[in-house]
Amino acid sequence: MADDDRGHVTSEALRELGERARQCTACRLADTRTTVVFGDGSPDARVMFVGEGPGRNEDLQGVPFVGAAGQLLNRLLGEIDLRREDVYIANVVKCRPPGNRDPRPDEIEACKGFLAEQIRIIDPDVVVTLGNFATKLLLKQQAGISRLRGHAYPWWNRTVVPTFHPAAALRGGQSVLDRMQEDFALIESVLAESAEVETLEPETPEPEQMGLF
Ligand code: URA
Repeated sequence: MADDDRGHVTSEALRELGERARQCTACRLADTRTTVVFGDGSPDARVMFVGEGPGRNEDLQGVPFVGAAGQLLNRLLGEIDLRREDVYIANVVKCRPPGNRDPRPDEIEACKGFLAEQIRIIDPDVVVTLGNFATKLLLKQQAGISRLRGHAYPWWNRTVVPTFHPAAALRGGQSVLDRMQEDFALIESVLAESAEVETLEPETPEPEQMGLF
């Protein structure tokens, strides 16, 4: 398929999925949300970021990572020569947990199909999990983010790079920020390598949507 055609198909598939998410009432978060925060960015992104769930600003604006954590994410992206428009950003849960509490297991369970479909449609080379919730959902490890970060993990024919949630860097200061900068440098080098690998690897079938996690 020509690149233009693929872009059109992915945009349309994402738009339809977003429409379904906006009508979703599968968990209690539907009762308290202002807006469903589906995702934002390029449908053709090679890098996809997965956060935890919308905060207050995101709930009001319907866009992920627009608050202080989002400003930091933008800065870290800029340091590896990426702009927000080059990547795709989504969350584990698409609706704000009230008072910014942690998302509950049944809420994650109810929502995870949307994330699986987003990953399937966008088809990124690298998925960057921001913090414990996204990392545990994808990698299914007991270890926390401090242990898992700093490495790239093969995952369904892609690469997962776990790092801290930007909010942790806002709270934790320079030492967390330093490690996030290391992780962003790792994203850059994984992207450089997968550009070479891409032309050499044979095509493999897509995993079943629900098999991802
Ligand atoms: N924190 C998240 O995990 N996601 C957002 O969209 C905003 C803040």
